[in-house]
Amino acid sequence: MRWTQSYIPTLREDQSEAELISHQLLLRGGYIRKLASGVYLYLPLMQRVIHKFSNIVREEMNRAGALEITMSVLCPSEVWKETGRYSTVGKEQMRMKDRHEHEMILCGTHEETVTSLIKGEVKSYRQLPLNLYQIQVKFRDEIRPRFGLMRGREFIMKDAYSFDATEESFDESYQKMVDAYFRIFKRAGLDVVKVESDTGAMGGKAAHEFMLLVNTNGGEEIIFFCDKCDYTANVEKADFRPSNKVSTDAELKELKIVDTPGAATIEEVTAFLKVDANRLAKTLLYMADGKPVAAMVRGDRELNLTKLKNVTGAVELEMATPEQVMKSTSAPVGFAGPVGLKSCPIYVDPLVAGIKNMIVGANANEKHMLNVNIGRDFKATEVIDLTSAQDGDHCPHCDGYLSSKQGIEVGNTFMLGTKYSESLGAKFLDAEGKEHPIIMGSYGIGITRTPQAALEKYHDDMGIIWPKDIAPFLVELIPLNMEKESLVETAEKIYKELTEAGIDVLLDDRSDRAGVKFNDADLIGLPVRITIGDKSLKEGKVELKARSRDEVGKVPVEEVVSAVKELLKKLN
Ligand code: ATP
Ligand code: MG
Repeated sequence: MRWTQSYIPTLREDQSEAELISHQLLLRGGYIRKLASGVYLYLPLMQRVIHKFSNIVREEMNRAGALEITMSVLCPSEVWKETGRYSTVGKEQMRMKDRHEHEMILCGTHEETVTSLIKGEVKSYRQLPLNLYQIQVKFRDEIRPRFGLMRGREFIMKDAYSFDATEESFDESYQKMVDAYFRIFKRAGLDVVKVESDTGAMGGKAAHEFMLLVNTNGGEEIIFFCDKCDYTANVEKADFRPSNKVSTDAELKELKIVDTPGAATIEEVTAFLKVDANRLAKTLLYMADGKPVAAMVRGDRELNLTKLKNVTGAVELEMATPEQVMKSTSAPVGFAGPVGLKSCPIYVDPLVAGIKNMIVGANANEKHMLNVNIGRDFKATEVIDLTSAQDGDHCPHCDGYLSSKQGIEVGNTFMLGTKYSESLGAKFLDAEGKEHPIIMGSYGIGITRTPQAALEKYHDDMGIIWPKDIAPFLVELIPLNMEKESLVETAEKIYKELTEAGIDVLLDDRSDRAGVKFNDADLIGLPVRITIGDKSLKEGKVELKARSRDEVGKVPVEEVVSAVKELLKKLN
């Protein structure tokens, strides 16, 4: 491809819409443009990246025996009503009516569609196992679309769905996908870790996420690792045993209300009362599908929203507004407490239940209660784990310790069980003629998210450094002066030779200054750069440089193709 015949609108200035470096680089490198919040257009360079990554995914899925199909993005809402997800997915689902007033949705995932597809057609155990996949647009009206392609509303996903007759066969199918995932990410130049995750609205018995660990603020996910065994889980899911022993009173003391003027936060209250935060219990108010719920966690720990969501069974869980807090507790934010709180269920974390004579808000402005005891002074709707793991907690499985890293979820795998096949009636007959629901799994990879996630790792101050297998082109060819016939001729010759050797080249044939071309080359980040300048060419040579390395080599014009091949072999 010639630069002048392509469309690569690079930008000099940082773009204010981008918080993350990867997003910034895709905008500035002329890879993407935003149309609306969470909706992006993929320009020619990005389109090539998407093709390269999709092809890796496709090859590995095919190798694992999965079959590619394409399912429509548009779907009648009926099947979603049959599985019950029409009411549980919530506002993330885009809904509309067609001209016949028929309710339709845009799919954010395709379990319903694929199960209706095979239902009635797959009738016998002889037709199983089966795995169908697609690489297709998804639409999710995300509550907080952000970070460019990382969390879009419209994005591309590879989604696969497995169908098995027995648990043993399912375990094999699941493992095949896990193996394929490791191969896919490795080929894309990415080391990922597999972690236990929450099953969320998807349902099913267990799930795993594939995380790319990053040191930048692009890591939306926190992942815990045990330092002794191989336990890894994301923060939403991570179990733990608390490691810090808390001193506790021997006797239950008498309930007391004290004034705490100006003290509403944990820091302020502990400073004012001169106590440790672990003697306090926070009472946090949330709206679960519009109804208030209270969650109590220890003052020194964080509430885990996923755990609370699972406990309440809510589809939408939002923090209560100050007005809602006032309505439920008769006090401003910061003074909620469980004693006398009748307006909502109270979920209590076991760490809170373990505090004797705890300190809580008094449901009155600038007042707290001392010596509060569960059972004696208030009743819990349920005592259940609501706390996020934190660094230094004990592993739930061994005596090791947990520590956390930041990561980006690039793929995941769900053991769905028979949730969808039962609700939609996808059944098969076994060898004895007995009917069973098909055992299912579903497997996603972010086709647009993953390349951007890669950039959180692969960049420097100058721009992108693509891993070679997902780079839009492998080589950028830069004649330094388009006025000089000898340079242009050599560029054309090398361009032809590389192209014939099957190596994708971008020829920067613009008549811009060398500085402009070099800056753009560093910005768009192709793995190899060939520079054709007057001086070297007089010796019959051109300059060869890897984007990821500082050294510049000189290579005779005749040997360029083999030198490029050699260099590429050494690159990630
Ligand atoms: P997340 O927890 O990040 O919202 P998810 O659990 O909703 O992800 P899945 O529904 O399993 O993800 O989707 C499979 C894959 O699709 C994810 O691993 C991710 O790579 C990608 N993906 C999910 N949501 C988005 C999005 N809004 N924008 C871009 N890619 C996404
Ligand atoms: Mg999601």
